[in-house]
Amino acid sequence: MSGADAVRSAARTPPSDGHPLHAWSSDHHALELPPGHPFPIAKYRALREKLLAPGHVHASEPAPDAWLLLVHAADYVDRIERGALGAQERLRLGLPWSAPLVTRARAAVYGTVMAARAALVHGVAGNLAGGTHHAYRDRAEGYCLFNDMAVAIEVLRAERRIARPFVADLDVHQGNGTAAIHASDPAVFTFSMHGEANYPTPKERSSLDVELALDCGDGAFLAALDAHMPAALDAHAPDLVFYQAGVDGLKEDRFGRLALTHAGLVERDRRVFRWCEERGLPVVIVLGGGYGRPLSATIDACANLWREAREARRRRPAVHAVHDPTTAFPPA
Ligand SMILES: [Zn+2]
Repeated sequence: MSGADAVRSAARTPPSDGHPLHAWSSDHHALELPPGHPFPIAKYRALREKLLAPGHVHASEPAPDAWLLLVHAADYVDRIERGALGAQERLRLGLPWSAPLVTRARAAVYGTVMAARAALVHGVAGNLAGGTHHAYRDRAEGYCLFNDMAVAIEVLRAERRIARPFVADLDVHQGNGTAAIHASDPAVFTFSMHGEANYPTPKERSSLDVELALDCGDGAFLAALDAHMPAALDAHAPDLVFYQAGVDGLKEDRFGRLALTHAGLVERDRRVFRWCEERGLPVVIVLGGGYGRPLSATIDACANLWREAREARRRRPAVHAVHDPTTAFPPA
């Protein structure tokens, strides 16, 4: 069975208990990177294979232009599609351009849109890709071509499903693209907690930025999260939370520099899910960064995240209606 067939077969599995955790994956769109490239392309498939059996995993299609153009400049989308990036742009992106790269990036956007729609029905849903928060309206940066959360926000707003989204970006790097895209839009709250010494430099201004010291460790990280996130949720009164759950704060990570442990990240995830649950807020998970040495540390951290997500979904109300989450959503 091919990767795509495995995903499709899993997607046909009916919800058994009314509490399915729906997730979308993109790794069936094959993408080869040069040997030794630092981007951990292998983690996506490994994570899906680890999660596939008990989950409800759906195959992402490439997102259409109509979605991308709600956020991204037409000439930028056109340049990406044709591979007509300038030298500076290629350098900033950090990934070699190829047609499969664009397809894969479009699929990651699709997964976040679909997962966001599913979260509105099921309370919790996610994308086993995405969190590409460094992509700007008109340029690529930091392994990110399109900003999946920004596109999902605009698709769901255009469909009148949401009005006040909240982006909880707990990746070790600032969500600079997301912050810039929504900078002049008070209906979108961008919350970013990140290492002050980490990429990017300079940083953008999110609705709320919380900067953490180098190697801060679990205690300082969780204290900062407690001090800021619940209050920000209450102040904004959102109707959907996007959780960019990057695990690159892990001490085994080659890019992150926060020295978090697996237990610390699990506690982070539990708190985010609980705060959303207490407020009756649907939450959509996107994967974000993770560059562990060894990569198995990153995959383990992601698997922990999805375990917590599955528990969080179990605590939400059952949805017994049999439906195909890729097409059949209640009318907006
Ligand atoms: Zn990151």
